[in-house]
Amino acid sequence: MNNDMANPSAPLIAIIEDEAPIQKFLHASLQVEGFRIIQATTAKEGVRLITQQHPAIVLLDLGLPDADGISVISSVRGWSSLPIIVLSARGEEKSKIEALDAGADDYLTKPFGVGELLARIRSALRRAARPPVDGEDHTFRFGNVHGDLAARQVFVDENEVKLTKLEFDLLALLVRNRDRVLTHQYLLKEVWGPGSANEPHYVRVFMANLRKKLEKNPSRPQYLLTEQGIGYRLRSS
Ligand code: CA
Repeated sequence: MNNDMANPSAPLIAIIEDEAPIQKFLHASLQVEGFRIIQATTAKEGVRLITQQHPAIVLLDLGLPDADGISVISSVRGWSSLPIIVLSARGEEKSKIEALDAGADDYLTKPFGVGELLARIRSALRRAARPPVDGEDHTFRFGNVHGDLAARQVFVDENEVKLTKLEFDLLALLVRNRDRVLTHQYLLKEVWGPGSANEPHYVRVFMANLRKKLEKNPSRPQYLLTEQGIGYRLRSS
């Protein structure tokens, strides 16, 4: 693939997609932005490309001719945490959820525009570049909310907000995975434990509490966002 326009230090993006019009759209949109691009049209070729060329990010179609895209995620997650954005068709909520639970970071529903594509890619690259909150620094900030995961403290502006243990655990999980979409099942399992799979309303109730305590306008949240039919995402900027 001709990629002469790209700067050799630009991020390398792997596109794993078998539909020619979408391949073409992605290639054209990303090339203009100066990204370097590698492409595969099957799951097998995609895993080989990722293993050998270490892209900065992967755009992955879920419906590939030789295998489900989820098998690519599982295989890559065995050794790498590089960002994976899934490309799926409208109405494929179940496979999106499976992909996120298998370790994908985000998804785009076809058809999507260039603006949304670039925003998701930049957000994923920023996230990959930043040190984990669990390192030396346990502090976090989004909007006028800030806190310390180790001290289990949260403030809105300068005022400390009292959270229950489970509210704090849910917030901490969102902070550690900020800007990623977390599914209902994942949140239930991590915060309430494996026996809670049939209690999806827990997450809804606790998320409403967190919004009331942390968001300026809880009915129009700026940070604790709902991903309709999928789960939630903490937007950190
Ligand atoms: Ca496909």
